[in-house]
Amino acid sequence: MKMKTITCEGNNPMSKWYPGYECTERLKVMDNVVSAICWKCVARKIPPPPTRSQQPTGFPRGWKFFKEFVHEDGTVYHKGVEQPELFGTLPVTEIKEVEPREKKKKETLDDKIQQEYYQKLKQKKSKKTSTKSVKPSKSNRRKK
Ligand SMILES: [Zn+2]
Repeated sequence: MKMKTITCEGNNPMSKWYPGYECTERLKVMDNVVSAICWKCVARKIPPPPTRSQQPTGFPRGWKFFKEFVHEDGTVYHKGVEQPELFGTLPVTEIKEVEPREKKKKETLDDKIQQEYYQKLKQKKSKKTSTKSVKPSKSNRRKK
């Protein structure tokens, strides 16, 4: 396929892609292509994608699933459905920042063995040091 270089369609004031200035971008296209548009002109014509606003909405995550949620403006919602007759009658629901749960470490068999081992070590040590100073009381469970 033969290739040719054409000027961006944005260079044509009659074009719907005309960006408001003469775009002299050169584009390499296939020979049968009549006109082409550069990415800059496309970007000018297409509105930027909506970005998620970082502003707090006053609604916490999953508020629609709350049995009752009172927005900071006083609007009462029951499971996400507005209850106009209750407007302003209830205290505003405090939004608690949900902290990511700490991952519970799964205890492996190795961990258990290690723990037991260390406990036995401790017991041995405490027996040695405690024989003189501390007398075993009745409440202490004696092991064999
Ligand atoms: Zn262009």
